Amino acid sequence: MNIASAIFDRSAPDLASCPDESLPEFAFIGRSNVGKSSLLNMLAGKGLLARVSPTPGFTRLINMFTINKTWRLVDLPGYGFAHVARKDKVLFNHAVNEYLRNRPNLCVVFLLLDSGLAPQPIDLDFVEWLCRNSVPFVLVFNKTDRKTPEEVQANIAAFKTAISVWFEKLPEIFQCSSKTGLGRSELLGVIDETLKAGPAPEGPTEPVEPLPPEIEPPFSMRILSGNEGKQKNTRDKKRMKSPRPW
Ligand code: GDP
Repeated sequence: MNIASAIFDRSAPDLASCPDESLPEFAFIGRSNVGKSSLLNMLAGKGLLARVSPTPGFTRLINMFTINKTWRLVDLPGYGFAHVARKDKVLFNHAVNEYLRNRPNLCVVFLLLDSGLAPQPIDLDFVEWLCRNSVPFVLVFNKTDRKTPEEVQANIAAFKTAISVWFEKLPEIFQCSSKTGLGRSELLGVIDETLKAGPAPEGPTEPVEPLPPEIEPPFSMRILSGNEGKQKNTRDKKRMKSPRPW
């Protein structure tokens, strides 16, 4: 995919302030310093986003860019606060929570992780939260240039093992580096394929359980047991019922 234009749309403080739902959206999120800004600029090419970015300091807002006039790149504030009780670990901005759970034109979340680190509890908690809320996402192990391929593979393997309990089928995994450009075409390929696939089919008016395969989220996520599974189903119905107007 060639990115011909990247136009800053707005910094939204909440879901209600986001633009209309007419364009498919692809969101990027990760702990601060994971390399999100660098990756976004690597994806957009030639510092395109940096040139059109809002004033620095808007890090707690949802920053939206319209790309090629056909889709939106959504730069979400980071998550995670140290020294909180594990139960409340997935703390992030209320607007992000609302956006991820209720935005019908959100196609894929790219969750950035540091490939140089062993699985971090805060990242694992966030994956669990995404899974529980049926948010479609892929994992992007970033900064691969910083460690040996063996170290990167070991960290990815450990992460997969840690999250496997929550999934029937693991989310897709990508490796990236803004320094080397690794992963750029693959991530843009995800966006391209999703755009070509078009809108998700509308769900039934009165959804039935279990969801038919043709309206499953793009990346199969299933909580295996307990109350979480019930929450997941509820969320699926809501997201899948929403029409996607593009
Ligand atoms: P953000 O806080 O997630 O937006 O992270 P930044 O993009 O500002 O990057 C944080 C730091 O990591 C900066 O010093 C970047 O130069 C560095 N960085 C970002 N991406 C990479 C990468 O792929 N490889 C390496 N070696 N450093 C990176």
